[in-house]
Amino acid sequence: SLTVNCLDQHVQKCPDRVALIWERDEPGSAVHVTYRELLDMTCRLANTLKKYGIQKGDKVAIYMSVSPLSVAAMLACARIGAVHTVIFAGFSAESLAGRIMDSGCKAVITYNQGVRGGRITEMKTTVDKAVKNCPSIKHVFVAQRTENKVQMGGCDVPLEEEMAKAASECTPESMDSEDMLFMLYTSGSTGKPKGIVHTQAGYLLYAALTHKYVFDYQQGDVFGCVADIGWITGHSYVVYGPLCNGATSVLFESTPVYPDPDHAMSMFCTARENELPEPPAPQSLSFLVLNVVGEPINNEAWQWFYHVVGDGRCTLVDTWWQTETGGICIAPRPSEEKAEIIPAMAMRPFFGIVPVLMDENGKVIEGNDVSGALCIAQPWPGMARTIYGDHQRFLDAYFKAYPGYYFTGDGAYRTEKGYYQITGRMDDVINISGHRLGTAEIEDAMADHPEVPETAVIGYPHEIKGEGAFAFIVVKEEITHKDRIKEELKTIVASKIAKYAVPDHILVVKRLPKTRSGKIMRRLLRKVIAEQSSDMGDTTTLDDPSVITEILDAYQKYKKEKSSS
Ligand code: AMP
Repeated sequence: SLTVNCLDQHVQKCPDRVALIWERDEPGSAVHVTYRELLDMTCRLANTLKKYGIQKGDKVAIYMSVSPLSVAAMLACARIGAVHTVIFAGFSAESLAGRIMDSGCKAVITYNQGVRGGRITEMKTTVDKAVKNCPSIKHVFVAQRTENKVQMGGCDVPLEEEMAKAASECTPESMDSEDMLFMLYTSGSTGKPKGIVHTQAGYLLYAALTHKYVFDYQQGDVFGCVADIGWITGHSYVVYGPLCNGATSVLFESTPVYPDPDHAMSMFCTARENELPEPPAPQSLSFLVLNVVGEPINNEAWQWFYHVVGDGRCTLVDTWWQTETGGICIAPRPSEEKAEIIPAMAMRPFFGIVPVLMDENGKVIEGNDVSGALCIAQPWPGMARTIYGDHQRFLDAYFKAYPGYYFTGDGAYRTEKGYYQITGRMDDVINISGHRLGTAEIEDAMADHPEVPETAVIGYPHEIKGEGAFAFIVVKEEITHKDRIKEELKTIVASKIAKYAVPDHILVVKRLPKTRSGKIMRRLLRKVIAEQSSDMGDTTTLDDPSVITEILDAYQKYKKEKSSS
């Protein structure tokens, strides 16, 4: 089990080194957990899972906020060879149920409640709602984040009580390097999220190496990564990478306010002397990483980070990667010492990563100062191995467009000097506050409304969230209560997916722009919102070109109403 690399090896050498510092929602109440304590917690949790019948190869859902216990839950699964799938605690009961059913999880580990910005969230209630429809679930392990009592049913197990009774040693299961370690659901361009599968040795190696070299991690550094364990960043740079390297990893239960709680970026840093950054950063801080979401980070935000948070002396880098790549693939570091860093650019491929740009005909584009579809030309240890339960979809999504290459779904520009700059997704995937989302997922959710026969959702640049969702809807002819319908649609999206997925704008139109074969031309809707209606491109395939003026008029009217209200 790779938990030996992440825990036992450090416990042997330096049991009292701090593994985790938990910055709780309540400010000033940080909790320190040493490697010895984390191993103990992991083993007790692992033994509890075993006692309730969880075995090697079983799938376990983790629906928890970031805490030492949720990290231990991931490691406990890994310890016994079970496969964890962490589901971001902001997801609705329906999203949770969909993921549990797709992966066939046998158990869920959750908290009674969550605490975020002083507000209580009802995690266990959400899990109850979800597992009602999930016959594969045999047990729900419930930990206590608050003192409040929640209803416990027949298959619920009080986690801490069981852990207290369990043995503090658990023999690590022996695993094959290609056994599954975890799956993590992410969005694609169709409605159904895909369970991206990562395996053992290659994933851990890649997470640990990129953690060491991209961030220049050195022993003694305190490494803070503001990411939820529900995302790949949390897996690779809160849990597996730092722990494998014996680092002290800071867990942020809530997002530190910098300077705007909704600001769409996460920040990493290493502080040399057990300190956390508060702008301006303390002298101990030497490294900042801006992990941008969706849109390339704008220059203004970069400058603010560099000068205000980083005090003008921290290395600040932008990194490019995806759930599927397991770890960072393109980043300014490592590089030669003092090599230039261009603001807001991922720049240089990591060891073993061979980026190529492809043109529309599937040919490799040579030379510099060129743009194309970003592909990777050879495999690397951290790459995803499959989509759970659907290997064909894996091949279709990543290896079909450019045979012999991994297609990232992103476009990129190679500068005159040969650096890479990501230009954004080339498919119908958007990134809202760091949450990747297929526009088709929102459309699918809205399709549940009986009075809304058609919808088309597109992304648009949003100042705070990176991208936002804009929905065009068609309602049944006789409908007069359009505002009520909009509110109902918002509720549906929040309950079917998550709150962050709710469109910022919903515009009622008479019809959507379609080709003669009936495909919605979302490209034209993007032009409408970008106010580039003079540059609609090729519209000859449109079934009825007059639809464009119709939608433009509706949009102008909507804009006027918005600005006057
Ligand atoms: P996820 O798998 O949820 O982490 O999302 C990965 C996607 O986020 C990529 O395919 C990109 O579209 C986007 N992304 C990641 N890093 C960057 C970056 N440095 N600059 C621009 N977009 C990025």
